[in-house]
Amino acid sequence: MADRNGSRNRKRKKKSAKRLGFILLLELLLLVFLAGSYYIISKNKKDNNNPGKIVDNNQDKNDKSKGNNKNTNEKDKNEIEEKLSQAELAALREQERLLKEITEREELIEEAKKLTLSYDYDSAIEMIKTYQGKEGGYEVYPALVTAINELETTKNSLVLYGGSYTSVAQFNHIFFHSLIADNSLAFDGDYDSTGYNMYMTTTYEFEKMMQSMYEDGYVLVSVHDLAKQVTDENGKTKFVEGEIYLPPGKKPFVLSQDDVNYYDYMDGDGFASRIVIGGDGKPTCEMILKDGSVVQGPYDIVPILDAFVEEHPDFSYKGAKGILALTGYEGSLGYRTDDPTSPTYEQDKETVKEVARVLKENGWEFASHSYNHRNMLEKSFEFIKNDTNRWLDEVAPLIGPTDIFIFPFGVDIERTMGHYSSDKYTFLKKAGFNYFHGVDSKPWMHLKDDYVRMTRRPLDGQAMLQFPERLKDLFNLDEIIDPERPPMNW
Ligand SMILES: [Zn+2]
Repeated sequence: MADRNGSRNRKRKKKSAKRLGFILLLELLLLVFLAGSYYIISKNKKDNNNPGKIVDNNQDKNDKSKGNNKNTNEKDKNEIEEKLSQAELAALREQERLLKEITEREELIEEAKKLTLSYDYDSAIEMIKTYQGKEGGYEVYPALVTAINELETTKNSLVLYGGSYTSVAQFNHIFFHSLIADNSLAFDGDYDSTGYNMYMTTTYEFEKMMQSMYEDGYVLVSVHDLAKQVTDENGKTKFVEGEIYLPPGKKPFVLSQDDVNYYDYMDGDGFASRIVIGGDGKPTCEMILKDGSVVQGPYDIVPILDAFVEEHPDFSYKGAKGILALTGYEGSLGYRTDDPTSPTYEQDKETVKEVARVLKENGWEFASHSYNHRNMLEKSFEFIKNDTNRWLDEVAPLIGPTDIFIFPFGVDIERTMGHYSSDKYTFLKKAGFNYFHGVDSKPWMHLKDDYVRMTRRPLDGQAMLQFPERLKDLFNLDEIIDPERPPMNW
């Protein structure tokens, strides 16, 4: 991969060097033009102030035989010269404008092409079509028309779901919990080490997985692109398969992360402690070290995947990242926004709002993971109603509205393989939820008129150590499993 990156960087460098050369040439031309104009203008000025000419004029004036005609001719000549220099100034300004607009159009094309790195050809074409120059719209500028034609050609070479699937129901939806950032603390042999070995993935493993999936052609997509709600001619809404067009061989998939709450029980066990906005304005993680000092860095999925997609924009369809599923009983994203007695309660709520806004800007979506994290199949309707309402009251105002529900423990509200029919479903639907996600070893998906139900595959220690055959289609686990992970110990 280093080689591939290297060659891409070299290409980029080559391209920007070429571009720089072109700009320098333009600037040189402009300088030559400016110098030329200055020479002509100053020459005209000199001519006008030329004492010889004044003498000539005086001579003309004194020369009665030539009369007023000669005088008028000289006056005209001066006016013409004056006018000429004004015309030249105007031409200069026009030249400057033309050069500026050429650069503007080139930059616009570059900007538009950036969108196509994540397959958003429609937005790229639309961006160029909005151009308005002095001479008219994009259609009068050959460079823009050529760029649009090129984009259309590439767009037409894309195929539905990269040709890898015939239905969105075949897409993978993989999920993780918080990543282990310090193996020595998570696998230290204390009472929760076994739980971490079963249900968590290390940062080492996550990075290997993403690299492997990227090399296999996988592309992150949003569930909102996978299935879309449309309104028919009678005003009735229904969910239909999204039309995701990708280069041949690409494989769309969905990623989610559960319990992005950084619970108290994980303190001191080698996990991030919360999500913050770094000095560069991008989301990152904070972690508390053994000595109590706080450090920022890529200690969980968000900053790791953000950096990976920044380096490989073709790993994401239209900038999609993943779904962050939040409970409410210990606050959100590592901030104890559940506790009104906390001295930082009000401030934490504002911080979570801001962090959530930046996360969404970076392609992340949010889901409810219930408030109390209880088994929703076993719990009563009354419990689920209160639990959901509490989540909507406490968590939703911080992260914004969402229509995605990720079931705690992956346990669905119903066992039916037909249409949901319980009052639990009716309540959740009324509360605004459309996308429901459980967990299954063999993934399946239902696309109904009124909801989407899609199971997910865990990529945790249990899956890797106990059921490695289930992951064969995705990875060569020998290359993925962290050498520091203990063997199966449950
Ligand atoms: Zn959970």
